[in-house]
Amino acid sequence: MSYRIVFNRPCFEGKEREYIVEAIANGHVSGDGSFTKKCHNFLESYLGIGKALLTTSCTHALEMAAMLLDCQVGDEVIVPSFTFVSTANAFVLRGVKPVFADIRPDTLNIDESKIESLITPRTKAIAVVHYAGVGAEMDQIMAIAGKYGIEVVEDNAHGLFGKYKSKYLGTFGSISTQSFHETKNISCGEGGALLLNDPQFIDRAEIIREKGTNRSRFFRGQVDKYSWVDIGSSFLPSDLLAAFLYAQFESQESIQSKRQQIWQRYHEGLQEWAFESKVGLPVVPAHCEQPYHMFYLILNSLSERQALIEHLKQRGIMAVYHYLPLHLSTMGLAFGGKLGDCPVTERVSDTILRLPFFNNLATSEQDSVIEAIKQFRVRGEVSVTVNPNLSAQTASSTLP
Ligand SMILES: *Cc1c(COP(=O)(O)O)cnc(C)c1O
Repeated sequence: MSYRIVFNRPCFEGKEREYIVEAIANGHVSGDGSFTKKCHNFLESYLGIGKALLTTSCTHALEMAAMLLDCQVGDEVIVPSFTFVSTANAFVLRGVKPVFADIRPDTLNIDESKIESLITPRTKAIAVVHYAGVGAEMDQIMAIAGKYGIEVVEDNAHGLFGKYKSKYLGTFGSISTQSFHETKNISCGEGGALLLNDPQFIDRAEIIREKGTNRSRFFRGQVDKYSWVDIGSSFLPSDLLAAFLYAQFESQESIQSKRQQIWQRYHEGLQEWAFESKVGLPVVPAHCEQPYHMFYLILNSLSERQALIEHLKQRGIMAVYHYLPLHLSTMGLAFGGKLGDCPVTERVSDTILRLPFFNNLATSEQDSVIEAIKQFRVRGEVSVTVNPNLSAQTASSTLP
């Protein structure tokens, strides 16, 4: 069946086409052209950081982080179990063992109180995800990392422009990563960035991003030969994508304000229903400023969540869930994961539901989502009827 209201729709916001035409006219469509430099400058000056480098994805930026930290076979990295695979996989590619931490039941971020007991002499880093762009408890996490001399990598795929205690997310860890995938607030289809808050990583990051060569230094005239000096890969995006991305950066205020309105409309429209139905809504602590990346519900049970998905689907509305616990995935089990290791992750993974959320979601579309959800309570009350054809197995195939 086709959906009347999809979960995500890529949105042009301003001068994307114009800048792509300009990039073609410039005659430089490979990496590190003028639009890439504009994007670097934007991120560096907006966030107040030392160095930003565009990458082909957040996944690739995470892989670069693992190389920059010199991760070796047998090292360990602590990651939340409730995250996208790349947060763990980027390190696993270097031979690292992922050590899964559970999340807090309120913000769904890594539970800082669970981290210290997972640290061993092999722990190289803590990879933090700011879920939905709401900051993880960075004061405590940075203190633990400092105490044991381990690095913090922020997977800030959701959190661009978000703040924790008035400081931008992505500026806490020595290395941070951004995603500009189609589903993120600011997008160029596929893309990402590496943010470096520790100057010791800058030279090597440029080399790793350029296939292990000192090409960047050569073009700046700092070396007179361009050669193979380190490991690396091809992590830089075409300037055509940077042109698209720069147009989105220029429109960031309007993008963020549209998303803020959508988030608040969901929150206001669903508050009473959620209270009466004992359904959880996103929690944003007072010391966190969120960038309005997503809106989700936490239902009471797996069957209730599946019934609501079906209820919305019958009304042409697409709602999705994500993050099957990493410790229970095929790979996670191979690393020793067991049912019960991360109980909050396991419960949230069964009960979370993400609502349609994109820059140009029309008010009328959003209102029909809110209306449909409110009807669910009327129809189902506490004992919801589950579509008997919908087993957990077929449901998981709807994972985005
Ligand atoms: C989207 C996402 C990624 C991956 O981003 P890509 O740019 O698609 O590689 C990584 N981590 C988190 C938390 C994400 O949401």
